[in-house]
Amino acid sequence: MAIFYDTHAHLDFPDFESDLALVIERAHGAGIAKIVCVGTDLESSRRAVALADRYPGLYAVVGWHPSHATEAPADIRDALRELARHPKVAALGETGLDYHRLPSTRAGGTTDEDARYKAKQAGLFLQHLEVGAETGLNCVIHQRDSLNDTLAQFQPFAGRVRGVFHCFADDPATMRRILELNSLVSFTGIATFKNAQGVRDTIAATPLGGFMLETDCPYLAPVPYRGKRCEPAYVSEIAAAVAQVKGCTLDELSAATCATAQGFFRGL
Ligand SMILES: [Zn+2]
Repeated sequence: MAIFYDTHAHLDFPDFESDLALVIERAHGAGIAKIVCVGTDLESSRRAVALADRYPGLYAVVGWHPSHATEAPADIRDALRELARHPKVAALGETGLDYHRLPSTRAGGTTDEDARYKAKQAGLFLQHLEVGAETGLNCVIHQRDSLNDTLAQFQPFAGRVRGVFHCFADDPATMRRILELNSLVSFTGIATFKNAQGVRDTIAATPLGGFMLETDCPYLAPVPYRGKRCEPAYVSEIAAAVAQVKGCTLDELSAATCATAQGFFRGL
């Protein structure tokens, strides 16, 4: 059986509270040997570290998701440094910029609030990049409707920190800009969606060695589980779709994506 990793899972979410041990067992049974559990705020990051402590093959990424920027303290750098000392912390994040649901799109929201929200996100993103440069940890980057600002903010750090632009669904030209910054992309179950030919075109254009695989579970379950809770075992379905698009064997895809992940994540 070809071995794969799930490089982006939210196993600390309540969705997995009742059956996490089984979820992890199913993943290992499906050949998903390593799982990277990604924090979305400090509490979630601490839960991810606790899970990494408990389960072999599980690793933690610690950080604060841009969508939750409003609730974040002004400066999380000391907390990140502290968490980063744990040997199973493999990267920082997820961090970045998300302009998808700005305050002004909600009733009573103003463009002033938009500006404050964006500034808070940018401040947090910068803190992850600074601590990443300091500690040698790479960053898991989330961007939505904010590609140019995210790239512009990341660019000055590109020599010191690598980023993985996770849940990548942009075009080949954008993928090339990211690879030129010594960074990576990763692909989710979207690769299996009927209406996602654009993502498959990008996968076809991305060289082996330039990308990793992830579920982003509990979200984005691949076909034939689309719409259900996603879990790390389903990397198998994603890998099958990606291997087909790449015209390579599962073993070749396994070797390339696992080596890429090991080069990116500390201690994996
Ligand atoms: Zn995520």
